[in-house]
Amino acid sequence: MESVVRVHNRCGSLVQRSDNKEYEYQCCDCDEDLFRFETHQIEITDKMEFYALEKDNKYLYDRDGDVMLFESEEQAKIYIHEYEIEDDEYEIKKVR
Ligand SMILES: [Zn+2]
Repeated sequence: MESVVRVHNRCGSLVQRSDNKEYEYQCCDCDEDLFRFETHQIEITDKMEFYALEKDNKYLYDRDGDVMLFESEEQAKIYIHEYEIEDDEYEIKKVR
């Protein structure tokens, strides 16, 4: 597991890769596309809990090869829904 994640400067939520070519990241909480300078990296501590999507013991990765992390089961479900991944295809797993 990665021990560092990237978050939105303003709200502190985890960001994901943006599908919009003009931007690098997107914040699902703010529903906004972001430039890199609008984000920063933080180290995961033991107190934090994240969820990942897992299939056949393999995590779902983003384009950069980083494990995609979600702050809540709810967010992971929203992602599954948005990208029309079959509900039973991936298991939502608590990472920490
Ligand atoms: Zn945000």
